[in-house]
Amino acid sequence: MVYHHITVCLSVQASSPNILHMPVSPDQLRIIHYPAPVLREVAKPLSGATDEVQRVTKRMLQLMHEARGVGLAAPQVGLPWRMFVANPTGEPGDDRVFINPKLSNPSAETHVHDEGCLSLPHITGEITRPTRITIDALDEHGQPFQLTSDELSARVWQHEIDHLDGILILDRMPAIDKVANKQAVMDLEQAAR
Ligand SMILES: [Zn+2]
Repeated sequence: MVYHHITVCLSVQASSPNILHMPVSPDQLRIIHYPAPVLREVAKPLSGATDEVQRVTKRMLQLMHEARGVGLAAPQVGLPWRMFVANPTGEPGDDRVFINPKLSNPSAETHVHDEGCLSLPHITGEITRPTRITIDALDEHGQPFQLTSDELSARVWQHEIDHLDGILILDRMPAIDKVANKQAVMDLEQAAR
């Protein structure tokens, strides 16, 4: 699997003993598919918008656009980092980076919508999520910001933060969709062997 080719060197920095430093080569990053184990990990918070994080976010935005996606989380390129990129319109000016994102104030009202995932090709399911939600995160410059949405962005944020917690649409789709996608899931599992 592609993520095995990423050079990941774990070393603990003396200045921040709880933060793992992982030098990566952004050009080598690729979108990885289920059932890669990193997609099931709970990702670790980042120390901030370091040069390395900025290089990785640029590469992730490139990969997301190439795949015509609206969001891409770091675990989907093999990095267990709490970070994702999103662009709900596809317009260049709408790229946004979310470092250490946190959701709050989900609406009681929910909405059902068809979702796909760049790590689960050919698989879609009807996913129920709160319609409106607030997100707090750091941008690519390390500056905190807060946004609230009741549109596509609200759904994208929830989908991407699920990735940071090791949750996939396979876990949230109704049984009827699980049955419909059974063969596609088995094909992905077979391809990884
Ligand atoms: Zn996804």
